[in-house]
Amino acid sequence: MMDSKINDNAYQIEKIASIIAAESIQINYANSTIRTLCYDSRKISDPHHALFFALSGRRDGHQFLADIYKAGIRNFVVRRGAYDTTQYTDCNILEVRDPLEALQKLAAYHRRQFNYPVIAITGSNGKTIVKEWLYQLLSPEYRIIRSPKSYNSQLGVPLSLWQMGQQYDLAIIEAGISRQGEMEHLATMIQPTMGVLTNLGHAHDEGFTSAEEKIHEKIKLFAQANQVVFSPQYLASNILTNKEKFTWGTDVIAKLQILDVQKLGRKDTLLKAIYKGEEVSLTVPFIDKAALENSICCWAVMLAMGYETTHIAQRMQRLLPVHMRLVLKKGLNNCSIIDDSYSNDLSSLEIALDFLKQQQQHPQRILILSDLPLEKDHEQETYQQIATLLEEKLVDKLIAVGETIQQYASLFNVSSHFYSNTEQLLKDLQALGLSDSTILIKGARTFSFERISKVLTLQTHETTLEINLNALEHNLNAYKALLKDGTKLMVMVKAFSYGSGSFEIANLLQFNKVDYLTVAYVDEGITLRNSGIKLPIVVMSPGINTFEQIIQHQLEPEIYSFYELQSFIHLLMDKAIKDYPVHIKLDTGMHRLGFEPDDLKDLLARLQQTDAVRVKSIFSHLAASGDPQHDVFTREQIHLFSAFTKQLREHIGYDFIRHIANTAAISRFPEAQFDMVRLGIGLYGVAADSEKPLLLQPVTQLKTGITQIKHIKPGETIGYNRHGKLNGEGKIATVKIGYADGYSRRLGNGVGKMMIDGQLVPTVGDICMDMCMLDITDIDAVEGDEVLVIGQELSVEVLAAETGTIPYEILTNISQRVRRVYYYE
Ligand SMILES: *Cc1c(COP(=O)(O)O)cnc(C)c1O
Repeated sequence: MMDSKINDNAYQIEKIASIIAAESIQINYANSTIRTLCYDSRKISDPHHALFFALSGRRDGHQFLADIYKAGIRNFVVRRGAYDTTQYTDCNILEVRDPLEALQKLAAYHRRQFNYPVIAITGSNGKTIVKEWLYQLLSPEYRIIRSPKSYNSQLGVPLSLWQMGQQYDLAIIEAGISRQGEMEHLATMIQPTMGVLTNLGHAHDEGFTSAEEKIHEKIKLFAQANQVVFSPQYLASNILTNKEKFTWGTDVIAKLQILDVQKLGRKDTLLKAIYKGEEVSLTVPFIDKAALENSICCWAVMLAMGYETTHIAQRMQRLLPVHMRLVLKKGLNNCSIIDDSYSNDLSSLEIALDFLKQQQQHPQRILILSDLPLEKDHEQETYQQIATLLEEKLVDKLIAVGETIQQYASLFNVSSHFYSNTEQLLKDLQALGLSDSTILIKGARTFSFERISKVLTLQTHETTLEINLNALEHNLNAYKALLKDGTKLMVMVKAFSYGSGSFEIANLLQFNKVDYLTVAYVDEGITLRNSGIKLPIVVMSPGINTFEQIIQHQLEPEIYSFYELQSFIHLLMDKAIKDYPVHIKLDTGMHRLGFEPDDLKDLLARLQQTDAVRVKSIFSHLAASGDPQHDVFTREQIHLFSAFTKQLREHIGYDFIRHIANTAAISRFPEAQFDMVRLGIGLYGVAADSEKPLLLQPVTQLKTGITQIKHIKPGETIGYNRHGKLNGEGKIATVKIGYADGYSRRLGNGVGKMMIDGQLVPTVGDICMDMCMLDITDIDAVEGDEVLVIGQELSVEVLAAETGTIPYEILTNISQRVRRVYYYE
């Protein structure tokens, strides 16, 4: 470790105590040096130099202090009175009123140590893109520190600012808010010299009473900035006083006044504008509206910084799309590939390594890493930090590419291979024989690691179901927020997690510490166990001939009948097993599976006689919890359940978990939470409650592609049974999805619609087994174009309504041959 060299981000613990104005200080190691800030017990690195902030969220950080201590951390910031500080005598403990506020104070102090420019970006959309593009555009002149990924919140911003150091000379920080009062904190921390407003849309409107309030809140970010770049379309110029303003947009008052936006070919757009009385223009390699607006915003920022348009134009023409997301996909030789081959810096590497560490499905974790773009005098230190990170994040093997990292080979203790360039590695890739591993591919753009990813990835059917793991996490948190303190959470991952995946979803749920997972059949449970899932797993339909496997894989059966109970008890007795966890299902009105009220006495007697099983939980299922028409019935079910379990509780002699609420009941019947709830469809982004939809995010996108385009003459027919007809002359596209992929035949002949480049197009003719045809007469498309089948604008709910079914059926019908790809930011 490099203790002797105190870098810009190292503070003595006593110094920190004074910066955050700790109310009470217990310091046992005065010369503890802090370099790393952490707040999540699951993401710890550099424990000897880490300071842990016990933040209060749904899971109070104070509950994890023992874990943190075990991980080697000895420096804590805790809430005054929340914690018995005398417990650990070999720690430094700083007590404050509010640990988050303390973290923000420390970040603000750290930021003030640097007097280079700081650009702060806010707006409803496009913040991350504008930040990443400015990074691309300004990199030739500046050494830039930017907030990693979308670290733009009350917590992300201080962690981003903490990365500032003398090795940089420009910072670009994203600032996002979701409610009134938040921006002031961000502004105090960031103290931007330049402010940028990307745009204003409807995102996050819920946190504000009016659009006016929202804009006033946003511009608080600019309080201390000298210069602000914005469009008068979103912000009236007179609201900002005492600022140098740089405006852009179509408005005549705009400094950079956009005159014309002209599509050039299929991929480029020519932007014409007037600046300082002269006509200027440039071309960008994008055509969609959002990208164009973000490009114009970047153009304005560069002009505001004093760049010439000719200079700007050269760079804008080569702008690259931003890939901020980690992509998890299936690889060859039973590997999982995490593709992050477009950027490489320490903070995004750490985020990617955390995601790698979450993956439990293969015995090995491998990192393919390129050189990082670094200043010479920071190389040694950074590669040393990376070497330590690899050990902390449980990486088994390093495959490193680049002249620089090669020079530091001796720092790495894990098994490693070094290559001078990507070409060399590609030649050797076969010989390396990578198998049964999770492989993270992390490379700076210049190394073109996408070539490596292509070689390692299984290329299959082109139709793809994209699963957004951030949206899934968002939805999980949205439901957690509805739970009363101490209520446990069971997540339904049956039927391949409602079609969206197996261990990919379970890993994330395990990482987020849900309490139980539930599958329908034993094989689903075994798959999860074989993928390293350690959470308790309930099997709802075990069947008596699977009990051996249940026991072998430590799965927990649902018990719904005497016959089943008896068989299981016998097997356990044969094996001399005691207290095996089981889950008793009661039938309170669904009339599917479960013990009925009349069975209660016998059930109790049977349970009291045996010590082979132990009742872990008792549960029931609501038949119509989402339908207000049946609320009286639902309340009866809840009441019956409550009475049932009360009796069982009195006689069984020990405590168990009670649960009845599914997704719809979580939001509609808070009184039915009991000790645990069972979350299903809501996690996957479908609100089961139409009365007050939660702010769920769509999780899945189904995409396919155009195989062929044909011109159709008047009178010609399309597809089987000659059902397809156009109104006169036209054009059709054949796409690679059919009913065997889960695209229902009922969506044929114009019932279903898909989207090409933002435009809706109807199906024409019958849906075939592996493909179908779209009427694209009015749109400009070419073979190979992407086609959206399900997504934000084409929701599962609408598709379900069109075909007279429910979202559950649509999601679970998406065939296994459709490739699943997972995104994580
Ligand atoms: C599938 C299932 C759930 C989840 O239902 P959602 O409506 O998707 O939330 C809960 N409990 C049982 C017993 C189930 O079978």
